Amino acid sequence: MKKYIIAFISTKIKVMLCMLSTLLLGLFLFLSCQSSQTKTKPTNFIIIFADDLGYGDLSSFGHPTIKTPHLDRMAAEGQKWTNFYAGASVCTPSRAALLTGRLPIRSGMSSNKQRVLFPDSHHGLPSEEITLAEQLKKANYTTACIGKWHLGHKKEYLPLQHGFDYYLGIPYSNDMDVPQTVYKEKGGYWNVMSDPKNYLIENFQVPLIENNTEIERPANQNNITQRYADQTVKFIKSNKDRPFFIYLAHNLPHVPLFASKEALGKSSRGLYGDVIQEIDKGVGEILQALKEEGLDKNTLVVFTSDNGPSIAAKEQGGSAGMLKAGKGTTWEGGMREPTIFWSPSKIAPGIVDQMGSTMDLFHTFSKMAGVSLPEDRILDSYDLSPLLFKNQKGDRDHLFYYRGTELYAIRTGDFKAHYITQGNYGIYGEKEILNPPLLYNLNHDPSEKYNIAKKHPEILKEMKKLVTEHQKNMLAGEDQLEARGVE
Ligand code: MG
Repeated sequence: MKKYIIAFISTKIKVMLCMLSTLLLGLFLFLSCQSSQTKTKPTNFIIIFADDLGYGDLSSFGHPTIKTPHLDRMAAEGQKWTNFYAGASVCTPSRAALLTGRLPIRSGMSSNKQRVLFPDSHHGLPSEEITLAEQLKKANYTTACIGKWHLGHKKEYLPLQHGFDYYLGIPYSNDMDVPQTVYKEKGGYWNVMSDPKNYLIENFQVPLIENNTEIERPANQNNITQRYADQTVKFIKSNKDRPFFIYLAHNLPHVPLFASKEALGKSSRGLYGDVIQEIDKGVGEILQALKEEGLDKNTLVVFTSDNGPSIAAKEQGGSAGMLKAGKGTTWEGGMREPTIFWSPSKIAPGIVDQMGSTMDLFHTFSKMAGVSLPEDRILDSYDLSPLLFKNQKGDRDHLFYYRGTELYAIRTGDFKAHYITQGNYGIYGEKEILNPPLLYNLNHDPSEKYNIAKKHPEILKEMKKLVTEHQKNMLAGEDQLEARGVE
């Protein structure tokens, strides 16, 4: 009997030990699976870049009649940045700044002779530059550029030669390639651009390129915004199992304005409002696709613009809200952009009023992807993660405002000094060299109305020191924009 009891107890113990080991093995497998999942899930990045969108053109940034519910929701769930800047006040240098994390003067992508690249430009972004796409490829990201490129239209300069695995878009601005007969008939560039009657596809012979091949000319601009959004959703869905970086650079609301049949007439702001609302609709579809694929908690989406609104386009251009002037200037309206960061579960929602720049995305994304920064060149890029994820102070405490290769203004903390000013893109007026410089407190006076230079000579003196130091170490790259015309 005793023997049976011992055998029974020993069997019980064996069964319990067996169950315990199975349990432990299960726990081990669960934990290791969890940790490998954490390890193998880097953050995806999407930059949605508008063209010539004003600081005041989204309802969450104060526009009274343009309705942008998806961007507003993105701002409510994420962070709305009120002091975020483009790297330049016009297209080409601004895009070079964003993708390289460097002031465009360093890469030769800003010039005093040509403000941007044109269909007859000879060059583009030099191959020696390291783009954000090339940087993220070091961490095995798959990369797409969808939309306007404007960093060189020749094959050697197109996105596929700069670290992108896929490209669909127009190689330069949507107002280029206008037949000369149209200008003659309408009486010049701004007459064409400021009148919606001229917004006909055939008036703008801009090509649409997929990868390295022209697939359509003129590009059908009526449905181009929706097409870019559709392609972005498609790319998300087909790359959901690996880390991706999508640079979606809409070519609107740069004039000429186009909207699809579904979007036309929907906004009480008129055609410009229709265009913004269609961009907003696409933002909604992209966020929805991320949710459907379970990627919303693992993706950082940034929305911003390349420069301020075109004032010369009159009613067909946007609004910088309370900021002064627009595109092409180093006034706040030229370079401060309505910016939103969205990454549910990672970013604490709120309003960030500290400084940031599109150039900072290079440093921030590199750090998040675990890629070290290049050490053989000067970067103008600061890590935004303390502001995004820890509610701490950021590292950026100054900003240089260039026009071409000339430094026009500087911001340090609350204060901004202008050394030179000039008018809006397409209007220009006289270049004014200011001595003493103009000084504004941007937190008290975001509209740059009240010059306080006389009251604060000590601030100007400190700023000048910073400028002198900056200029002493500045090495301008060879001008890539200057060469144009028949080769
Ligand atoms: Mg632009």
